[in-house]
Amino acid sequence: MARFLFITLVFSSHFFPVISQGELDSARIICGPQNYKQISFEEVLWIFRNKSRQSTDAKPLEFQIDKLDADGKARKIYVLDTIQLARESRYANSLLGYDLNQNWKSLVASEVQQFRLLKDSLLSLFHPKGYRVRYLQQERDLAKQLRFVAAGRSKTAISLHNFDLAADVGIYRKRRYLRRGILYTHMGDLAKSIGMFWGGDFAGFPDPGHVQGLKNGAELIRKYPEIGFEYTRFMPVYRQNLDEAESLEKQENFQDTQELLVELGRLQVNKPCACQYAMSIPTPIVWDAPIFANVAAGWVYVEGYFYQLGTWQYALKK
Ligand SMILES: [Zn+2]
Repeated sequence: MARFLFITLVFSSHFFPVISQGELDSARIICGPQNYKQISFEEVLWIFRNKSRQSTDAKPLEFQIDKLDADGKARKIYVLDTIQLARESRYANSLLGYDLNQNWKSLVASEVQQFRLLKDSLLSLFHPKGYRVRYLQQERDLAKQLRFVAAGRSKTAISLHNFDLAADVGIYRKRRYLRRGILYTHMGDLAKSIGMFWGGDFAGFPDPGHVQGLKNGAELIRKYPEIGFEYTRFMPVYRQNLDEAESLEKQENFQDTQELLVELGRLQVNKPCACQYAMSIPTPIVWDAPIFANVAAGWVYVEGYFYQLGTWQYALKK
């Protein structure tokens, strides 16, 4: 009996090989149809964040979720107006278009504090003779960042600047601002020696005046998973950047993007999603609410479109 069991195990492991974390990480995540008995309010917000084409304009939102009762009837469990939503969570604030920096400030407060100390240290360490050094205007809200992306001036929809975790150093000779030069390399070396990350090291897009407190967005999400909520809607953009880079064999320039996608994948896999293709409308009713999840019927309505409910899963190559 024992021997038989042993053989069976060997036999089945041949057909179901163990998949390594590395293999999973290199796979993209796709939304595959899946039925649920219920999904949480938080999960609905993530679906909305992923599917909404809404920009950062504040609009009144109303969320409704249906739940199956014990008797099999669907029942509304959430109908929330904007005020309730605002109280609900940082997610809701984010959807209401609140300033990104402001919204996540309390979550990353100690991180920002630590980065401030590093910035002060850097200035006290770096004062080349005959030059003036100061931090440039760092204010950059998400709306402005998105304009940068649209204008092709930046590839990153969200930067660590948005969280006050990055700064740009300006070096001046008399009153003239120097854009580059060996002094920036010296500054970068000092920054790294005290534990900062230097933009001059960014593969593909070196930015020698830039310093930041964390390695990249992936590290930020690893430390503060809730912030993945801000990044999730840009996954298609990141994926496209990476695919383009791969076709040009320049993927080494997109290491950070790769890491970011891995982190977002780990965060979302096995969670509910709205499947890619819109369904035909299952009912003539169109809601004023931007989102309505009918869990019992297996669909979710987001801003005029119906989607089948599904689960994020790794698309493993067969
Ligand atoms: Zn910068």
